[in-house]
Amino acid sequence: IIHISDIRKSYYMGTQSLEVLKGLNLDIYKNEYVALMGPSGSGKSTLMNILGCLDSPTSGTYILNNQDVSKMDDAALAQVRNKEIGFVFQQFNLLPRLSAVDNVALPLVYAGIAKKQRREMAMAVLEKVGLGNRSHHKPNEMSGGQIQRVAIARALVNSPAIILADEPTGNLDSKTSVEIMDLFSAIQEAGNTVVLVTHEEDIAGYAKRVIRLRDGMVESDQTQESRKHAHVHE
Ligand code: ATP
Ligand code: MG
Repeated sequence: IIHISDIRKSYYMGTQSLEVLKGLNLDIYKNEYVALMGPSGSGKSTLMNILGCLDSPTSGTYILNNQDVSKMDDAALAQVRNKEIGFVFQQFNLLPRLSAVDNVALPLVYAGIAKKQRREMAMAVLEKVGLGNRSHHKPNEMSGGQIQRVAIARALVNSPAIILADEPTGNLDSKTSVEIMDLFSAIQEAGNTVVLVTHEEDIAGYAKRVIRLRDGMVESDQTQESRKHAHVHE
């Protein structure tokens, strides 16, 4: 579902440029559950933003669901993003003045769906993440875990094939993190492809494949089976 070949990404600041992704190759298949790890500054968020069509690579090819998105302009990219991708952020990124249900319904506004149907769809996903009884709460009236559930519901509401999450448990305590990871597991089992970034090995243990970046390249790429094996030999 994701095919990336020889992706490079540089950031330009004035006369300075910094190459952050240095010829990265990666394939992710439908319904995979992938954790992306690596030191701070290794390019994880940069890669996630490209995967999520929030940014374009400087060079290289990115095929998403059989479409070459690497050379699309911003408008075309936004269309692909709205259709194919649900993005979850560490800082939740909900609108503080909107209730949970209105936050979740927001992507449907851009999709041009009628108001009544937007509410029904948003309520259905809120039920799915266990927050049917919090639909009228605003973000400051909910716990961190509940807020992240709302953000996940928003990512799910237009039924994207791929859910991307950049450190979704980075601002949560460990018990709440486990609940959120169980939710991602359920989402993956329901048929989505899930890619998430984490710094914590425990959290990465929920995924079936762990990819480690170092200095803008893939350092290692292991499935759950091969990791178990590695532990036996330790
Ligand atoms: P962390 O674990 O700290 O979140 P990361 O692996 O997500 O790190 P990135 O955010 O991808 O790392 O950043 C990689 C490098 O690119 C860093 O050196 C960072 O300073 C730089 N960088 C990221 N975004 C930009 C930007 N918009 N403009 C300029 N430089 C940037
Ligand atoms: Mg990051």
